Amino acid sequence: MLPTSGTLLFAGALNVDFSIRVPHLPEPGETVLGPNYQVMPGGKAANQAVACARAGGQAALVGAVGTDPFAEVALCCLRASGVNLSGVRTLQGSSGAAFIGISDTGENTILVAAGTNAALRPEDLPDLTAVDMLVLPLETPLPTIQAFAEAAWQRGVQVVLNAAPAQTLPPLLLQYVSLLIVNEGELRALMPPVPTEDLWQQLRAVQQQGPKAIVVTLGERGCAALLADGTQLRIPAPVVTAVDTTGAGDTFTGTLVAALSRGLHFADALIWASAAAALACTRPGAQPSIPSADEVEAFLS
Ligand code: ADP
Repeated sequence: MLPTSGTLLFAGALNVDFSIRVPHLPEPGETVLGPNYQVMPGGKAANQAVACARAGGQAALVGAVGTDPFAEVALCCLRASGVNLSGVRTLQGSSGAAFIGISDTGENTILVAAGTNAALRPEDLPDLTAVDMLVLPLETPLPTIQAFAEAAWQRGVQVVLNAAPAQTLPPLLLQYVSLLIVNEGELRALMPPVPTEDLWQQLRAVQQQGPKAIVVTLGERGCAALLADGTQLRIPAPVVTAVDTTGAGDTFTGTLVAALSRGLHFADALIWASAAAALACTRPGAQPSIPSADEVEAFLS
């Protein structure tokens, strides 16, 4: 199935998440016992594509799964959410996997095995004719991400970079970016430190490196955005009882791009994304916790 017009194309990792609840997260060398574990679909690009589809966006995914039995777990939620999977290849080897510890306070620590996610190559980028936005998290090889971003930028397709997990980026990559989405740790890691505590000055310094607009998520404190025309937006997070924040950032990103592609003003799109992410924090798991558009609407009304 070819992507249809207005498609939001997510490129990156599909994982299987093995999660275990523990009284506290382990220090290096420490073993912590929990009662049992769960196996659920995850991976940043996959989570974001599911969030986008549930928010009413036309999501498609580029990536790879392995020939192991867990591949079906990685794909099930995407299929059920209506994400176009024609760009997902099956390759010899193991699917990507994440091993997640969740503490009683809802904090998490995540170890990731890349598996077939490491095999994503520049030539895997499909035809972009019907694509409005290309959304790139960072769980796949950086040279591929950079090649995808450059190809999209050359064709006038908006590039949304979710610079997660945290890492320092090649300056050239930032030049292709229309919208950069980071949490606070990822913002600090992006480029050499800016000598200021002021968030807006930090965001302006990043903006000078290329991204037209930047959103920084601030956990339970909400989010802030610096738009292309210099407008500053600060949106508080709805107050919820968080039980598991896994996938909160992915829910935020997928919902935000879906809302922007539906033509919402940036501030309204941030409110939608914040509501969806807050709801996701009230439920366990990454993809299974992502709310539908109807649930977000009911929460906001
Ligand atoms: P990440 O999950 O990538 O580390 P954040 O922790 O900043 O990113 O969370 C992303 C978004 O999820 C936040 O901007 C906020 O909208 C929402 N969120 C996260 N934690 C909470 C919380 N405890 N209560 C309400 N919303 C939250």
